[in-house]
Amino acid sequence: MFPILKSKLAEVGTTIFTTMSALATKHNAVNLGQGFPDYPMNEELVALTNKAMHDGYNQYAPMPGWLPLREALSEKIEFLYGTRINPIEEITITPGGTYAIYSALTTIIERGDEVIIFEPAYDCYGPSVELNGGVVVPIPLIFPDYKIDWVFVKTKISNKTKAIIINSPNNPTGSVLSEKDIEMIRSLVDGTAIFIISDEVYEHLIFDSLLHQSILRFPDLLERSFVCFSFGKVYNCTGWKLGYCVAPASLTKEFRKVHQFNSFSCFTPAQVALSHFIKNKSAYLSLTTFMQTQRDAFKYLMRNSKFDFLESSGSYFICAKYNRITDEADKDFAIRLTKEVGVTTIPVSAFYRDGKDYSVLRFCFSKKTETLELAAERLLLI
Ligand code: PMP
Ligand code: GLN
Repeated sequence: MFPILKSKLAEVGTTIFTTMSALATKHNAVNLGQGFPDYPMNEELVALTNKAMHDGYNQYAPMPGWLPLREALSEKIEFLYGTRINPIEEITITPGGTYAIYSALTTIIERGDEVIIFEPAYDCYGPSVELNGGVVVPIPLIFPDYKIDWVFVKTKISNKTKAIIINSPNNPTGSVLSEKDIEMIRSLVDGTAIFIISDEVYEHLIFDSLLHQSILRFPDLLERSFVCFSFGKVYNCTGWKLGYCVAPASLTKEFRKVHQFNSFSCFTPAQVALSHFIKNKSAYLSLTTFMQTQRDAFKYLMRNSKFDFLESSGSYFICAKYNRITDEADKDFAIRLTKEVGVTTIPVSAFYRDGKDYSVLRFCFSKKTETLELAAERLLLI
């Protein structure tokens, strides 16, 4: 008999997004769970991608990515964050943001290295650290505003700390890093060999006139960082699974050694299309206002509900406490809401390694207004 496989991720099941989306489909529920838009992507980008295919851009793209796209990204970064990034040596196109994060961790982690993550944390961080032989050091964000306790972080730094993963705007909480947080990161890593993995897939989804504190603004931090992005989030095409990683040349060189033996390169027609489309600044600059409008619309629609909404300053998401409705565990409540009320959400305990439950659900508002209206109509019944 073939021996039973020893799991590398014994504690991990199917992701909460997969589980809740499947449940939503089964019960025909309005899906405010998994983070994806339910409105179409830009027609011009669709046409450009079609054109690229018709024009014959259907073979392997160069391993680091289609150069005109990397050049366009470099111009965009300089325009937004004032930093010059070398498109040849410092940008790599990847099959999505998750892959960029995974590859960055693979590039740096040696067995036993510790990596600090903040919880609630996007679900891929912990398993990606562990699959690479690292040890996760989870640090709780302070409930309910999900800020970082930097004094506590300092106590968790050891001679094994290899990296710190930051994510602003944050999934699932919608919190964002401030200038003060950047100063604290600076004082924490100064004089150490700690790397920063900065997950900035929601860079354009930041509200209330706040400024996105991208690591790309700070050359002194960038020199130790892998900054990860997703085209899926910017251009409403999460199914494209296309992103990129910005890192200094010496780090990018090693990152590409990992990348070239994994996916090697990414879908060519989309890269060709994006190299033109990305020059249209309004396509990404208009996202902030649009998404803020959806956040505000959802909050307004839900103003008479028994959910108590927490602050969301960015991302696709807003969290809400529900302890005025029930004392059920968040997973049980999320399942019941899907089955009985017809609205799917994500239980925030899924973003804690020990399943900590603060009676909080995550709602995704990157949806058409009529979708948010239908969800609110149903949620107001409970
Ligand atoms: N980071 C965060 C915080 C996310 O929410 C997501 C989800 N889409 C990703 C990374 C992954 O992006 P991609 O779909 O491009 O892999
Ligand atoms: N990032 C998305 C979310 O948080 C999900 C992506 C996925 O399903 N892996 O909902």
